[in-house]
Amino acid sequence: MEKKKIAILGSTGSIGTQALEVVEEHANQFQVEVLTAHSNADLLIQQAIKFKPNAVVIVDETKYQQVADVLWEHDIKTYKGEAALAQVVEMESVDVVLTALVGYAGLLPTINAIKAKKTIALANKETLVVAGELITILARENGVVILPVDSEHGAIFECLVGEHQNKIEKIYLTASGGPFRGKSKEELKNITKEQALKHPNWNMGAKITIDSATLMNKGLEVIEAKWLFNLKPEQIDVIVHPQSIIHSLVQFEDGSMKAQIGLPNMRHPIQYALSFPFRLPSKSQRFNFMDYPQLTFEEPDKTTFMNLTLAYEALEKGGNLACILNAANEVAVEAFLNDQIGFLDIAEINQRCMQEVSFIQHPTYEDYVKTNTRAREFAKTLI
Ligand code: NAD
Ligand code: MG
Repeated sequence: MEKKKIAILGSTGSIGTQALEVVEEHANQFQVEVLTAHSNADLLIQQAIKFKPNAVVIVDETKYQQVADVLWEHDIKTYKGEAALAQVVEMESVDVVLTALVGYAGLLPTINAIKAKKTIALANKETLVVAGELITILARENGVVILPVDSEHGAIFECLVGEHQNKIEKIYLTASGGPFRGKSKEELKNITKEQALKHPNWNMGAKITIDSATLMNKGLEVIEAKWLFNLKPEQIDVIVHPQSIIHSLVQFEDGSMKAQIGLPNMRHPIQYALSFPFRLPSKSQRFNFMDYPQLTFEEPDKTTFMNLTLAYEALEKGGNLACILNAANEVAVEAFLNDQIGFLDIAEINQRCMQEVSFIQHPTYEDYVKTNTRAREFAKTLI
C-alpha cells in the first residue's frame, strides 16, 4: 500500500504533536509532507529534522530566518507567513490535510485544501463554526471527505459506519463539564486563568481548555456536529458525563443507541481519521471496567454556562451569527488569558457581540471575513 502523505497544519500544538506520535508509530503507513507552526520555531525545526517533510511553513515571519537557516541543509523548503500557509495545502504530493491549528486562521487553508480536493482530517472546529455552510457545500462540490478529529464527532462518525442508509434520530454529545461543573455564577466570578487551565480529563491547548471551562467548546461542537452530520438543532443534545468514557452517542429511528467508548485519549480519533476506513493497531492503554464502576450523567447548566445557550441561538438563526460568536470568543478568551477580563465576562462579551454586530442571513466568503473583523473590533471595545 502507498503511504498516505500528510500535511499537518499546527504541528507544534497538542493535536499536532500527538498526530506526529501516530505517524511515528505507523511509519510504514504515513509520511509527513508538510508541517506548519505559528511561532514555535525550535519545535518545528526538531520535528522537520525528524520527520523529513518536503516543506514547512512558519507563520511568524520574524522566525523565518532561524528555521530556513537550519532546514536548507536538510533539503527541506521553508516558507513564511499566512499566504504560504494557505497555499502549501495545495501541493500536489499531499493526500490528507490535518487541520490542527487553532481558531479562525484555519478557515482559508481549509477552503484551499478542499478546492485542491485533499481529504480533510478536521480538528480545527472553528472553521465549521465560522463557515459551516460554505465549507460543506464546497466539500460536496469537490467530492471531498471531511473526517472529524474532535473526539465527540469522531465517536459519532465511528457509530455511523455501516449506517449510511439509516436516519439519525438524534445525537448526544458528551461533555466532561470542565473544571467548574456544579459551580454557581457567584463562585465563578473570581476564577483565575490558572484554575481554568486545569482540565480534569484532557490535556489540550490553552484556547480549547478555556473553552471547555466556559462550555463554549461544547457550544462550538454542537455547531460543528450540525454541519458534519447534517442535523437540525433539535437533533443535537448535550449530556454531561464527567468520566469522559463515552465519547458520544447516536440514536436511530428504532430507538437503538450506539456509543463509542474508551479512555480519553486524542490519539485514537487522530489515528482513526488518518487511517480511515481501516483501523490500525495501537498500544494505547485499554479500558478496564473495574476502574470505572460508575458512569454518571447530568444535564448541562446552560444558565451559569451561558455560552452553550448562545451557541444554540447561533445555530437556530444561522447566517453569520456563529461567525460573530466565534470571533468574539477568540478575543475574549485571549483577553482572559492576558488577565484583562474576568471568567464570566467571556460569555457576556460573546452575547453583546451577537446582539450588536450586523447579522447577515446568507453570507459569502467575503462577508465572513468582514464579520470576523467587525466582531473582533467590537469585542475589543468591550474589554
Ligand atoms: P494548540 O494551541 O496546542 O496548538 C495550535 C497549533 O496551531 C500550534 O501548532 C500553533 O503554532 C498553530 N497556530 C496557532 N495560531 C495560529 C495561527 N494564527 N496561524 C497558524 N497557525 C497557528 O491547540 P490544540 O489544542 O492542538 O487545538 C488545535 C485545534 O484542534 C483547535 O481548533 C481545537 O479546538 C481542536 N481540538 C483540540 C483538541 C485537543 O485535545 N487539543 C481536541 C479536539 C479538538
Ligand atoms: Mg471535543
